[in-house]
Amino acid sequence: MIKIGGHKMKKVLLFLFTFTIFLSMGSIAFGEEMKSSMQVKNQKVETVNKVHNIKIEKINLVDAVVIQTEETPTYNRMDIGNRIVVDVLNASLKMNQKEMHISQLGIEKIKMTEFASNQNYEKQDKVVRIVLYLDSVESAENVCIDQEGKDIIIYTSQKPVKQLHYEKENNNIIFPTKNNTGKKMIVVDPGHGGKAPGTHSENPLQYEKDLALDTAKRLEKLLQEVGYDTYMTRSDDITVGLSDRANAANIVNADLFVSVHYNWFDDPKVSGVQTLYVDNDPRDNKVFAKIMQEELVKGLDAKDMRIVDRPNLVVIRDTKMPAVLCEIAFLSNPEEVLKVSTQEYRQRAAQAMLNGITRYLNQ
Ligand SMILES: [Zn+2]
Repeated sequence: MIKIGGHKMKKVLLFLFTFTIFLSMGSIAFGEEMKSSMQVKNQKVETVNKVHNIKIEKINLVDAVVIQTEETPTYNRMDIGNRIVVDVLNASLKMNQKEMHISQLGIEKIKMTEFASNQNYEKQDKVVRIVLYLDSVESAENVCIDQEGKDIIIYTSQKPVKQLHYEKENNNIIFPTKNNTGKKMIVVDPGHGGKAPGTHSENPLQYEKDLALDTAKRLEKLLQEVGYDTYMTRSDDITVGLSDRANAANIVNADLFVSVHYNWFDDPKVSGVQTLYVDNDPRDNKVFAKIMQEELVKGLDAKDMRIVDRPNLVVIRDTKMPAVLCEIAFLSNPEEVLKVSTQEYRQRAAQAMLNGITRYLNQ
């Protein structure tokens, strides 16, 4: 579930272990009198971060949830249905309050605990788990998490007026200019990425961000082979803001916007393809969504989970061209998880989306 965290923690522990060995070698070399000061040093290295406050504050002119810690925090994010789990690593909880009822920003409540170790983390790992329970209207896809100094900042669907800064790789997005050759420009948006893994499957463990990127790259290649211009909102495992994705599509003046995601639902029996779009909009989203849905259901021989009106999904709401968000399969369904783990199935998904795009543009 949280293998990234385990990995990071292992690095920290390895460092501590190496440092301890170094210290003990030192005490052998320099004699017993050095021991006490070295132990002090050793304790200092093991300092654990503390989560001491969680509050709602205006950041970049919008309300956000701010998790305040005492050191620069490292954290993992996980989306589980309508819950966002933020694990602050190597940290303890320095708050008496264990639950906050919010009822704003699309959040019902926030729970915080010192997380008991399980198979996902090492026994010695200290983790503070903060769970945001989103209300029925808010979507985990809209939630951006950013870090500034010692704070973890969580934005829900209200996008900041000032563009958020994300990971440094993403500071310079280079936008292609649309050709005058009459070629259609298709923006492909691989969901999540970087610090936002999206949802995941258990067996085998696959993160939505990786599956989405792989499938999107396959689609990009097919689109280029057919002769479309393409722009990818990310080509690597980096964090990209939702507004940045929509803005990028608007700046390159795309003809179509296709966001690629994988789904999750509480009931593992649920499977199939779902396409999200914004209804009641001057763009032609619904027709585009219907065509994409039909082609995916046909191409994957999957269950038709219908097209769904999602008026508040930032990437398909703030884009100015027909836009859809395709949920290829359910990572909560064991059979689809096995299918999705094959390159062949992801290639079929890409081919089906290409068919949908071509069919829509030629209708
Ligand atoms: Zn997603």
